[in-house]
Amino acid sequence: MNNINFKDLFKGKNTDVTCPNCHTAFKVAATKLLESGHLIECPSCGFKMVTDESVNKSVDNVNKSIKNLQKNIDRLNKS
Ligand SMILES: [Zn+2]
Repeated sequence: MNNINFKDLFKGKNTDVTCPNCHTAFKVAATKLLESGHLIECPSCGFKMVTDESVNKSVDNVNKSIKNLQKNIDRLNKS
């Protein structure tokens, strides 16, 4: 079985992050989110976050995207 290298998989991709302070959505390199301990600064209010929480949020976003995709596929199959 091949090992999946997440860093390669997410290379050059951006993930939406929502600032917990001012709720501004902005893009962060996905590879940054895969490692905890990165400092991310909100471009709007300057709120500083460490990537640990963001990782959980981006995993939620991925799960949501997969669910939406599944819904769309179901819809296409029905029509
Ligand atoms: Zn902010």
